[in-house]
Amino acid sequence: MNAKEWREKILCRKKNGYDRLTDAERSKMDDYCNDYKAFLNVGKTERECIRESVRLAEERGFRPYVRGMALKAGDKVYLNNRRKMLLLAVIGEKRMSEGVQIAAAHIDCPRLDLKPSPLYEDNELAYLKTHYYGGIRKYQWVAVPLELHGVVALRDGTVQDIVIGGGDGPKLVISDLLPHLSQEQNKKTLAEGIKGEQLNLLVGSEPFPDEDEERVKLAVMQQLYEKYGFTEEDFLSAELEAVPAFPAVDVGLDRSMIGGYGHDDRICGYAILRALLDLQDCTGRTAVCVLADKEEIGSIGVTGMETAAFDTFMEDLCESQGVPVRACLEKSFCMSSDVTAAYDPNFSDVYEKRNSAMLNYGVGLCKYTGVQGKGESSDASAELVARVRRVLDDNNVVWQLAELGKVDAGGGGTVAMFMANRNIDTIDAGVPVLAMHSPFEIASKLDCYMTYRAAAALYQDIGR
Ligand code: MN
Ligand code: MN
Repeated sequence: MNAKEWREKILCRKKNGYDRLTDAERSKMDDYCNDYKAFLNVGKTERECIRESVRLAEERGFRPYVRGMALKAGDKVYLNNRRKMLLLAVIGEKRMSEGVQIAAAHIDCPRLDLKPSPLYEDNELAYLKTHYYGGIRKYQWVAVPLELHGVVALRDGTVQDIVIGGGDGPKLVISDLLPHLSQEQNKKTLAEGIKGEQLNLLVGSEPFPDEDEERVKLAVMQQLYEKYGFTEEDFLSAELEAVPAFPAVDVGLDRSMIGGYGHDDRICGYAILRALLDLQDCTGRTAVCVLADKEEIGSIGVTGMETAAFDTFMEDLCESQGVPVRACLEKSFCMSSDVTAAYDPNFSDVYEKRNSAMLNYGVGLCKYTGVQGKGESSDASAELVARVRRVLDDNNVVWQLAELGKVDAGGGGTVAMFMANRNIDTIDAGVPVLAMHSPFEIASKLDCYMTYRAAAALYQDIGR
């Protein structure tokens, strides 16, 4: 063999996904990405995301799971955990004792939550105080239009959905300093330039007529009361989230990318949900989809991936077949689907190019994530990576395997370790994203679609 033949036989060559994309796949990709943008636009909070996911699932014949219900192959069920976490299953012909195919993603995103007592007036301007949720870069959240989504739970038990600023509605904003007066601020680090207690939303300036004290605050509260029926004290039992006010849009002259708020991790959440909804064949193992909350603050709590709600759901499914849940989990597989950092030529010094996920190179597998020597990571075994490679190749899915940034440049985690800790073989696989955790994250359409294709292939195909 000559060098060229040897090269082809034994050297690994990465390829841009577009070099492999057929016209038929391309049009499916465009349709899929339009559906995803619509999903992103109606789901700006974890609650809205779950509500839309339930709607889509019911449209496809899923029904609420009730403990003890008889289940047979082909049945489609879902469990809505406190309106913030969703567990869905398509029952397969194989018994639960043969394990299940799980895909898990999170649908909570970094944002600015209102504090319990948020409303105040300062120099005849009204503000709402926030406490940021998840890892944000604070300077990115000033001088951008924001809207407020969430609920106010009243003492009588009613829960009022609130959306302020949707569509043509009025927007809220956190003002930034003008360059003319920012000499001192400019000397600070990016982390210090805008402080947590400066993330105050400007919400009003018109005073209540013929009143002396805190009259702008009074006028704002009057508006809220008249529109939504709640009082200042009701903020104490509210969950209101300030999120970016713009919709998901195509990015690039070629429209090859999608920019928007919440790719991390609704882009994977939608992929694994849609793949389950589209699943036709139930001759194999049962497929389970988990859309979890609270990943951005550690996956803890009743709706985070560590919750017993997941274990209980699995136990209930197993019990219906008289199978001990431990016998099911040890044979199960989980695709922990979360975004990863895409190589950014604009910030090349924090990446090691050879081992970075590239835009348009497909769904990004991570054997491990973690910080400082793979700390806090679920390191998938070589055997598991090999099985996943085989399934993705057999199904013509464009994929790549990468790390999140340079060694010791930082790092991160996903829900993978919480699944692996349950004795479930788990691998990370998700969409490479630019500007992750910013109000406007960017992903490629090809990678977005290939993550859906990967989930579809793994629900169907991965055995032991
Ligand atoms: Mn994530
Ligand atoms: Mn994140």
